Amino acid sequence: MTIAHNLERVYENVARACTRSGRAPESITLVAVSKTHPAEHVLEAAACGLQHFGENRVEEAEIKIPLVSAQLSIPVTWHMIGHIQSRKAREVAFLFQWVHSVDTSKLATRLSNFSVEQGKRLPVMLEMNVSGEEAKYGLQASGWNEDPSIREQLWNEVRQIIELPGLEIRGLMTMAPIVDTMEQARPVFRSLAQLRSALVESFGIALPELSMGMTDDYPVAVEEGSTIIRIGRAIFGERES
Ligand SMILES: *Cc1c(COP(=O)(O)O)cnc(C)c1O
Repeated sequence: MTIAHNLERVYENVARACTRSGRAPESITLVAVSKTHPAEHVLEAAACGLQHFGENRVEEAEIKIPLVSAQLSIPVTWHMIGHIQSRKAREVAFLFQWVHSVDTSKLATRLSNFSVEQGKRLPVMLEMNVSGEEAKYGLQASGWNEDPSIREQLWNEVRQIIELPGLEIRGLMTMAPIVDTMEQARPVFRSLAQLRSALVESFGIALPELSMGMTDDYPVAVEEGSTIIRIGRAIFGERES
């Protein structure tokens, strides 16, 4: 299977999900998740017209991003999608154009400081742990709609983050739990969309992006309003590590 062939199938599935939900395919950005895959595969994907790439480890991105940049005449956009240790915030603010995985106000503050230092405002998504799984990163958001104390804590955290001068909060991101059928992921995606509406109403800010949907569940995520899907295996094949 070539990347071009795989991509065609992804576009087809996105188009079908858009038809089912009355959405325009242009309203969805495809981020190709190239983690564990070499720079050559990124170049092959870029030659197919892909413009957005996602990585989850700073150490890997520090090597891959310059390698890819050196060989492309049209720059691509790099998205940090993985958990970030605070001590790596400087590198992240320098290497990436987007960050999907802002999961604490401490990290947000550091990213903001380093962005200000570089004279820029970094577009970010707030990662929400909507499913409540313990092993998952993200701001604690499970039960935000039922439990006033969870809601208050989450709202406080968001209030601190939106005031930071170096960040532009573009939306919310989540990862669905691993489930048997993608239909089982739907409540998590729906909850993230509802949380977005609630935050927009409370804070009077625009949160245009919902970063949700991966290889196993993106058609359902699109039906539930995703604007950014993060796809690895369906484009590049299985990862070895
Ligand atoms: C690896 C990864 C993806 C892509 O996963 P696939 O199942 O290969 O599509 C998306 N989002 C995050 C945060 C990831 O770490």
